[in-house]
Amino acid sequence: MIMSKNISGRVYIIMSFLISSLISVLGRYLNPLISIKSSSSIPNHGTLSVKLAPKLHFTSDAIKMASTDFGKIITSNIPSAVLFPSHIDDIKNLITLSYNSTTPFPIAARGHGHSVRGQATARDGVVVDMKSLSNSHVGTRVSWTSSLGYYADVGGEQLWIDVLCATLEHGLAPVSWTDYLYLTVGGTLSNAGMSGQAFYYGPQISNVLELGVITGKGEFFTCSKHTNSELFYAVLGGLGQFGIITRARIVLDKAPKRVKWVRMLYHDFSAFTRDQEHLISITGLDYVEGHLLMNQSSANNWRSSFFSPNDVSNIASLITQHKIIYCLEVVKYYDDFTTHTIDKELKVLLEGLSFNPGFVFEKDVTFMDFLNRVRSGELQLQSQGLWDVPHPWLNLFVPKSRIFDFHQGVIVNMIHARNITRGLVLLYPTNRKRWDDRMSAVTPDEDIFYSVGLLCSGDNDNWKAMDEQNKDILEFCEKAGIRFKQYLPHYTTREEWIDHFGEKWSIFQERKTMFDPKMILSPGQRIFHHV
Ligand code: FAD
Repeated sequence: MIMSKNISGRVYIIMSFLISSLISVLGRYLNPLISIKSSSSIPNHGTLSVKLAPKLHFTSDAIKMASTDFGKIITSNIPSAVLFPSHIDDIKNLITLSYNSTTPFPIAARGHGHSVRGQATARDGVVVDMKSLSNSHVGTRVSWTSSLGYYADVGGEQLWIDVLCATLEHGLAPVSWTDYLYLTVGGTLSNAGMSGQAFYYGPQISNVLELGVITGKGEFFTCSKHTNSELFYAVLGGLGQFGIITRARIVLDKAPKRVKWVRMLYHDFSAFTRDQEHLISITGLDYVEGHLLMNQSSANNWRSSFFSPNDVSNIASLITQHKIIYCLEVVKYYDDFTTHTIDKELKVLLEGLSFNPGFVFEKDVTFMDFLNRVRSGELQLQSQGLWDVPHPWLNLFVPKSRIFDFHQGVIVNMIHARNITRGLVLLYPTNRKRWDDRMSAVTPDEDIFYSVGLLCSGDNDNWKAMDEQNKDILEFCEKAGIRFKQYLPHYTTREEWIDHFGEKWSIFQERKTMFDPKMILSPGQRIFHHV
């Protein structure tokens, strides 16, 4: 119990008074929040609301920040307040307040707000700014046990770049990554956390040993495969629906010092995918991805500057000649012990691949520079005012058996032919066996599926055209019977969500009833709230 009987009696009286005096004027959700706003002027009452009051912000700056995200598409999900917690008890108290209210208000954790469709917003509710926990919370603690090996306990609010820096001090690092590291642990674990390491290590959600979670009832649990396992699997890939992740125990391995980073160019899609699929079927490489170069795109882009100016001009001629060029990207890690053998090992791994002769490029960089490769592009775009622009992104998992239909119908006939896409197209296969079906995350029902990222950047005039194209792409896939799954999904109707989760829908619903029965958490996903 958070409060003694005495205090809770007093809370009840104060809350009742405040609520009843406002209830006739103000609508549905707002009563408990308004009472907090009012109670901030009441000193020393020791109530939940008084504890929360100084940390709840109602200023226009706070509200504006919490009303939108990296996508810059959704701006109308305006919250009533933003909580800047300094301790996880603040989050617990907030959820408890909502849960115990006769009219519970919605609450969304906001990690780094790098969603693109308002997933971390809470219209008329409270957004919890997770980053404000960072000064007072667990940070990153590295440990070892004989049963678990090396692992790190990290705060759910932490950015992956900070986890990387802290673990590297011990010569260790997590094994599975996202391409970009300025995302929070809680944010990526609520989705999956995908990059070129996933074919071998699985996504980030497959590399978690334990979680600390506050459920939609305001209760804190530690959960793992063996303890409170239902909550553990629900939260991984659970789109923030079952609880707020306050801590995660992440698998670590010895960190390499450097990496050999290779890009190979293809004009033939079938050779490109054949080689990608071969490389994810063998062991030896640490990262396999791929992306497309076409129309006016430059070989270098914000995701990483890789090629020399001379290479860029040769590649531009290749694009002019073939229209679409496919870039296969691989990495092999190495350290002092393997520095003399790495070139030979890499040569063996890449033997027999069918890239265009002469179009293979290699770089040798530090492990840190490789993992943090997107950052310099981000800073450059920021300085040009091109980072905070609309991002109508669409991420899909496409089953291997239909990747040629997808390529012809979407890449060739739409993206290349229409030439309105500005941004990156990622396309690489991964192994489903590295995912655990008990987790909430969904994938296509095939052993190998492709992760396709259509990462468009728009401006106020053209983003809608790209978004229309996204709709056409989804419609084409539906009509062609391509049983894809959206990654970082965005749907607006209940039917679409039921279809998205497929066989997992009933367990998803049961878990919601179990852990967030009043449907308080992450309303911006629009799974159980259709506002
Ligand atoms: P937010 O956008 O703040 O939140 C996302 C969702 O998670 C919301 O529903 C929110 O309520 C919930 N949430 C946030 N924190 C918590 C928590 N602690 N507990 C429970 N729920 C929580 N994804 C990949 O997989 N691979 C990539 O390579 C990749 N690259 C990206 C590059 C860029 C530039 C961007 C903008 C995004 C990229 N993403 C990638 C997508 C990214 O993983 C997701 O958008 C992720 O949700 C962002 O994390 P965040 O901390 O900003 O989360």
